[in-house]
Amino acid sequence: MILAVSILKNPSSPADGYRGRFAPSPTGPLHAGSLLTALGSWLDARKNGGKWLLRIEDLDTPRCIPGAEQQIQAQLLACGLSWDEERTYQSQRQDLYQAALERLAGLNLLYPCTCSRQTIANALAKLGVLTPRNQEMVYPGTCRPNPLEVHLPKLFSTPKVAWRLALPQHCQIEFEDLALGHQSQDLNQEVGDFVLRRNDGVFTYQLAVVVDDAQQGITHIVRGEDLLSNTARQIHLQKVLGYHTAQYWHLPLVLDEHGEKLSKQTLATQINTEDEKHSLAELRKAAQHLGLRDLPDGENITIAEWLLAATRAWRS
Ligand code: GLU
Ligand code: ZN
Repeated sequence: MILAVSILKNPSSPADGYRGRFAPSPTGPLHAGSLLTALGSWLDARKNGGKWLLRIEDLDTPRCIPGAEQQIQAQLLACGLSWDEERTYQSQRQDLYQAALERLAGLNLLYPCTCSRQTIANALAKLGVLTPRNQEMVYPGTCRPNPLEVHLPKLFSTPKVAWRLALPQHCQIEFEDLALGHQSQDLNQEVGDFVLRRNDGVFTYQLAVVVDDAQQGITHIVRGEDLLSNTARQIHLQKVLGYHTAQYWHLPLVLDEHGEKLSKQTLATQINTEDEKHSLAELRKAAQHLGLRDLPDGENITIAEWLLAATRAWRS
């Protein structure tokens, strides 16, 4: 734990140069959408002479599929997308997330919440707010103590409570996305105090990704547009934890024929990397979607040569 705390206080310095990452959840093999994110972030790192790290986001174990992580790595390598440094697993970094949580508790920014989805929906209904199905509900602060003082040992001992981050009264987050331009989100209006550790003890994506990006010194986060609405929460967390904020670049999504985002839920088919020819065909589709033009289209080109051409064509 002492080690974890000292690492947290001294995340790798952004001055070390460009550091990007690809952070798949091992909930299935790569599909066209996740390959696009992998390729876009890889090209941006290579174009900038930077490092590209692979982080397996395997915290939500019920959703992880055995073997998916090995499949993802094999698919990346088949496409020539090799990573730098040791790959990391979020499941092995829980001490870091716990240390961050304790820091937030020490700042009096955490409180326990016992609300079910139904309790939240009822509280919102009383306020006259109707949340459409499948849409995230804005947490109305039902369990938020006033004043915000929480007895610390509860953090470890109380079972079945979620831990939420208390937002300040004004929490309008602004940032420039490298692709989409100026972005702004009022976290109180659109999200509410959000969960950092779930009532089953699992650290949430928001907390883990912020701790990892800081601790790994990530300077550029290139990922799918489906994650755009999480970014303001992550920037706010970075600020309260005293971390550097990275540059964000949200890439266009690949949609299926019904106009829906490809995902394991929509049974997106995995990319075909059975041989170099098929892998190259998948890369070419992804590049086209990324708007890369005039890449060599001959049959007799290796993936390595094609990636070199794609890196030259990538806008930095
Ligand atoms: N693990 C997340 C996903 O697969 C990506 C996290 C990120 O890039 O911030 O959707
Ligand atoms: Zn609650």
